Amino acid sequence: MSPGLPLGKLLAVTAGLPDKKPTTQPATQPFSPALPSAPVIDRDFENRLAQKLTNRMKKENMGVQEKVRWQDISREALPEAFNIEVLQNETVYQKFLRIAEGRQLAENEFRIVEKKLGVSTKELLGFMQKAVQSGNAEWLPIFEQVRSRYFCRRCGSSHYEEWPSLYGDTYTCLDCREIGPLNSLQILFRLHSVDVPGQTQVDTDKCKPDQTVRSYSLEFTFAQEKAAEELWQQVHRQKAQETLLWAACGAGKTEVCFPLIDSFLRQNKKVLFAAPRQDVVHDVQPRLQKNFPEYNIKILSGALPQDMEPSKLTVATTHQVLRFYRAFHLIILDETDAYPYEGSSVLEYGIRQALRPDGQIICLTATPSAEILLRVKSQKCAIVRLPVRHHGFPVPVPEWQKNKLTRDRSLVELKKVLLKLIADGPILVFVPTVALVKEWTGVLKMAFSDLRVEGSWSSDAARREKIVLFRQGDINIFVCTSILERGITIKGVQVAVLFADHTLYDARALVQMAGRTGRSAECPFGRAVFIYAEQTQAMIQANRWIQDQNRLAEEWGCLNG
Ligand SMILES: [Zn+2]
Repeated sequence: MSPGLPLGKLLAVTAGLPDKKPTTQPATQPFSPALPSAPVIDRDFENRLAQKLTNRMKKENMGVQEKVRWQDISREALPEAFNIEVLQNETVYQKFLRIAEGRQLAENEFRIVEKKLGVSTKELLGFMQKAVQSGNAEWLPIFEQVRSRYFCRRCGSSHYEEWPSLYGDTYTCLDCREIGPLNSLQILFRLHSVDVPGQTQVDTDKCKPDQTVRSYSLEFTFAQEKAAEELWQQVHRQKAQETLLWAACGAGKTEVCFPLIDSFLRQNKKVLFAAPRQDVVHDVQPRLQKNFPEYNIKILSGALPQDMEPSKLTVATTHQVLRFYRAFHLIILDETDAYPYEGSSVLEYGIRQALRPDGQIICLTATPSAEILLRVKSQKCAIVRLPVRHHGFPVPVPEWQKNKLTRDRSLVELKKVLLKLIADGPILVFVPTVALVKEWTGVLKMAFSDLRVEGSWSSDAARREKIVLFRQGDINIFVCTSILERGITIKGVQVAVLFADHTLYDARALVQMAGRTGRSAECPFGRAVFIYAEQTQAMIQANRWIQDQNRLAEEWGCLNG
């Protein structure tokens, strides 16, 4: 084998991988709600790679007589430099195992691990090879062939681009570039999770929420206590590996998962809290750290340098989850129906891949998608409801105001509606598009010249500063797109949704926007007004959802208002 030629590059050269014209279409691999099964190893593909490699080695007079088997390539026939003696450094090797366990490391991440361990590239490769030889890890070509298509091993996508390189045609995966580019000249190192015997035995009786010494300090309401207990029962009964926690907006759904997180951590199991958006992740980590002070809770997001420190409890964006492989016993997935997670087969694949085969997923949302409700109906997913807010007051049911929002008279009517709202608190005005934010910020600035009116949208450079000003009460009317649709609590805020009948608004978006009102215990009331020209099914469904939720809360006997 030629010295200095990395295995991935050699495989790419000899195998000419992939040999078909790659697709330029987005990944169309259907997302399977089934939990990950054992990896399907395409032996034919491996044999063909091995045959090509043997031919190449014979051609280069590398002393190969018989056909090289894939297992040999993977475990033994690596360049001599890999076979260094690592036993002399057993302590560092054990630290390496703790860092790499449950991760799939791309070549561009090796440097971070080297730095963390204080070792050279040669030593790190030695550690990796030792782990492979012990049967706990594997080297993988980046692309896997399934029939006539090729899929990225890290993210499951078949969406890649072709480019010429010194080693021939090369392919870069387009769907996981955000966490570091990956191409067919590289290899992926994957270290499986290894259970220490007796360490992760489930002793469910000892871990019931009311029987353990809690590491978190929370005062639960009756409804939260009930939901937390039910969640715990569902997960430990393991009738389904997935549970939906359907909570009212502002119900404190994150905290309801704490007893469960606590019980998993006490069994020395690994827990992941994942959410599609960075701001949610950065908001949740301090809350978890405060309640679980004995654990060093790691946060992985695109806004921070990559952290390789091992952790029992990890908080990550769904993009960062692609770095893991069968690592977690419990995954709490917040805002399951939010962009960019919803509809992304790659991010869904990442979550399934990061879950251990015996693991459990809890999906949290106030507005479940039709797909997950279907899984609930077919009993593939269990369900737990939390229909009441933490302060016990019902979610305000949106009012409807018919208004075409043309000039003159419509604007006079709109001004009347907004004047009544502003009497109770600052107003969030939602509009469906960026162009409408700009237009209506101008219109409302003229209509309310004595008030401070600002507008913002996702790519607005001053977005964060404006949100801070709005939170502080320095902005009276804040016009925005869906950027503030979720995850924000502002005391006393009132909501107006302009063009509520717009096709961009589905029932879930309307429920989330209306759900910004009355969230704080100091101001549990508020008004949400849908301004529309023609009523839509989405508006009807949104009101029905909120009313049903409030009715359920009343049945539970836990409504204050
Ligand atoms: Zn990929």
